[in-house]
Amino acid sequence: MRSRGDGIAAKDFFESGEGGITYDDFILLPGHIDFDVQDVSLETHLTRSIRIKSPVVSSPMDTVTESDMAIAMALLGGIGIIHYNNTVEEQVRQVRRTKRFENGFITDPLCLGPDNAIADIDRIKEEHGFSGIPITEDGELGSKLVGLVTARDIDFEPNRKKKLRDVMTTDVVTAPDGVTLEKANEILRKSKKGKLPIVDKQGRLVSLICRTDLLTNKDYPEASKSKDKQLLVGAAISTREDAKERLAALAEAGVDVVVIDSSQGDSVYQVNMIKHVKKAHPEVEVIAGNVVTPRQCEQLIKAGCDALRVGMGPGSICITQETMAVGRAQATAVYYCAKYARRNKVPIVADGGVRSIGHITKALAIGASTVMMGNMLAGTSEAPGDYFYENGVRVKKYRGMASIEAMDAGGAKRYFSEDDRIKVAQGVAGTVVDKGSLQNYLPYLMMGLKHAFQDLGCRDLKTLHRVLYSGRLRFEARTQSAQAEGGVRSLVSYTPPPEGRK
Ligand code: NAD
Ligand code: IMP
Repeated sequence: MRSRGDGIAAKDFFESGEGGITYDDFILLPGHIDFDVQDVSLETHLTRSIRIKSPVVSSPMDTVTESDMAIAMALLGGIGIIHYNNTVEEQVRQVRRTKRFENGFITDPLCLGPDNAIADIDRIKEEHGFSGIPITEDGELGSKLVGLVTARDIDFEPNRKKKLRDVMTTDVVTAPDGVTLEKANEILRKSKKGKLPIVDKQGRLVSLICRTDLLTNKDYPEASKSKDKQLLVGAAISTREDAKERLAALAEAGVDVVVIDSSQGDSVYQVNMIKHVKKAHPEVEVIAGNVVTPRQCEQLIKAGCDALRVGMGPGSICITQETMAVGRAQATAVYYCAKYARRNKVPIVADGGVRSIGHITKALAIGASTVMMGNMLAGTSEAPGDYFYENGVRVKKYRGMASIEAMDAGGAKRYFSEDDRIKVAQGVAGTVVDKGSLQNYLPYLMMGLKHAFQDLGCRDLKTLHRVLYSGRLRFEARTQSAQAEGGVRSLVSYTPPPEGRK
């Protein structure tokens, strides 16, 4: 029996008081370190059968996850969930683009046709900065490759109206579909060419490899991949009848997991949708939610979900708790739902309210298997939308999916709108600061998380959950002054770490 000097067990901390607990309300006490930080594994279950190397998921929001984010998240060991505030075709295109992505291969190269003019290449160069363009019969990817135009072919041509058929190289070095990156690299090196089109057996253009990319290509040993070596990707769907059609198209495109997106998941609509997905597309895993109580979990687990998304009201753009007076403090919600769902081996996605590496650590330490983030990721270059300046600060837009702005952007096709009912906002639209590329940001977050695991004396998530439920992981409440003490203070000035690096 330990003294209070060593803190208290999660059960005593969460199950004794009355009020709801947030991530900031507690601190974890240190464990014993007997391993190097490099020995920490962050591998986890996203769902019952999908495992990923980094416990992070990007939110299905139209200012957070489209294919660029999904590709980067999966390459770095997490996973992205493509939002559905778009047409079925658009969402499917984003899923396909992520599934088709192969490191080093450009799977959606810009193409032109033989009847295009040099001026069209000038335009592409101005917009995108490159001028090596494959020429296909009808100017589209997937049609027969007939030539290649590079800067060398057109640099000194005074007539910019000249057709590409008159300047293109037709003797093109190509590689067959299925070629490995290593082999392609070798062909490029030997041929001394800058571009290597990949073609199928019929000579149709499949993808393109660029020498400049090869030189900067990184290795992604942690990448989240399915058995067929494609990147893992998720997509969100609603609980409406028409989502069944969307689901079928997503399944056809190879989506690995769907998130049934609702702020209050304990509904007959959701239960029916879980059953439908499991019956019609058993190969697709289902993350159901959102939930904040064991009773809600029970309904969705019974219906057959493969993971639960927990959080009602903690999102940084969320006004649900104020508007609806329904929801729960996030740490309390994660603790109780995780404790309940582990009986059925259903992993928990702690969704919303994450502001720091410390919050990710705490979510995992109270039972979550992954953490879903919107705000933390919305300012990265992989998030949809352009940067702009607001009061001298470089920002990107970030908005709630139930903000009036997002509902309007979705063509008012969701949320109370079928029969022109009054729309009630549950979210706001705002901006977040530029965080640079996810390629630098996420590895920073994951290294910070490994250090946190080391401080807790846990080499991996399994150990962390074991000490959580055995009572060996110790908690302490943080008073307001304890929280203040944990922050920077009593300095005339200081340089904070770059945005998000805490
Ligand atoms: P929702 O689609 O679950 O609900 C909207 C309304 O439609 C509700 O009244 C619901 O009961 C109704 N509805 C849903 N399916 C139906 C069906 N088949 N037949 C008839 N009515 C049906 O969406 P929401 O909860 O308003 O959330 C909208 C978006 O905002 C989502 O992206 C959600 O993630 C986000 N959001 C999240 C939170 C949170 O705290 N996690 C809070 C608010 C909103
Ligand atoms: P954040 O990372 O704290 O910004 O929280 C992101 C989460 O907020 C998402 O994953 C959703 O669960 C939730 N969310 C998204 N849009 C809205 C909204 O409009 N209102 C309330 N919650 C939202």
